[in-house]
Amino acid sequence: MSYEIEVTLAENKKTKPNANELAFGTCFTDHMFMMDYTLEAGWHHPRIVPYAPISLDPAAVVFHYGQAVFEGMKAYRTKEDKILLFRPEKNMERLNLSNERLSIPPVDETFLVEAIKKLVSIEKDWVPADEGTSLYIRPFIIATEPYLGVRPAHTYTFIVILSPVGAYYAEGINPVSIYVENNYVRAVKGGTGHTKTSGNYAASFKAQEEAQKQGCAQVLWLDGVEKTYIEEVGSMNVFFKVNGEVWTPALNGSILAGVTRDSVIQLLEEWNIPVKEKRISIEELYAAYTEGTLEEAFGTGTAAVISPIGNLKWNDKNLVINGGESGSLSMKIYDTICGIQTGEKEDPFGWTV
Ligand code: PMP
Repeated sequence: MSYEIEVTLAENKKTKPNANELAFGTCFTDHMFMMDYTLEAGWHHPRIVPYAPISLDPAAVVFHYGQAVFEGMKAYRTKEDKILLFRPEKNMERLNLSNERLSIPPVDETFLVEAIKKLVSIEKDWVPADEGTSLYIRPFIIATEPYLGVRPAHTYTFIVILSPVGAYYAEGINPVSIYVENNYVRAVKGGTGHTKTSGNYAASFKAQEEAQKQGCAQVLWLDGVEKTYIEEVGSMNVFFKVNGEVWTPALNGSILAGVTRDSVIQLLEEWNIPVKEKRISIEELYAAYTEGTLEEAFGTGTAAVISPIGNLKWNDKNLVINGGESGSLSMKIYDTICGIQTGEKEDPFGWTV
């Protein structure tokens, strides 16, 4: 494939939103990156073009059989006006893992990190500066071949769009209530839970609606077979501090390997805090709670970095964690990762580029 990225700049630039108007995922920048795949040419024609609607045949495989994968990452503006990406190679590595599971041809990870850097540098004025804000980067691949036969498509398009986003915690960090989901499941081993494919998210909405009816922000997902072992929280990985140790569910084939999860584990190891990746049953967690050793609980993900859990609703029980307040370890992890992402703290791991 030709690695020359063709650039066509937009003639008319959009008006950028004010920092206080930024929400999540509603506003998009002036340009996007695209490239195509055919059986004959492989991935080809990488290009940066004005952001615009795309045209697809109604028979495109993505509409019928959901052959689609995506990623989510962010660019941050430092006080010195540099733009930083956080571990982008991890996202491209995970994209190929998703591709492999969804029978989508692999992409060149190194080239795509460069392509994303080029797109972000063209759009650098769109990276907001206020505390907590960032430019969200959404790479995705869709199967474009018009064909109703049930088999992997022969043509695909890879696209990267960018969206300036406001501070996740504009009103300060408030721990959330979580509903332990006993009925619906997110994923099973052998399925697609370890990938970022669109259908995983469509299938999760029903439980999210149920959680909201119960006055909770999100669901705690249990394993799909025994409905006993804790997997994830909403679309985040989950951690518990129990008796001075930190536990997180081991990657078992149905859990998404979060980039934030991996970063939190590395930080804890650096701080000599014992961290265990293990199978955690909801009963074991409840036992820790009744013994008074469940000290903190939090979700981890690109959007919020850390989301403290104030209480867990499990059947008729309501587990109030750390008095419903954010824990000190959760906050220390939050401050450290945000500090590294925005260049305010030293980056001993070499995570930012
Ligand atoms: N689990 C799921 C299901 C997710 O969608 C995400 C968000 N990508 C995560 C966990 C957290 O992953 P990351 O830390 O890479 O954002």
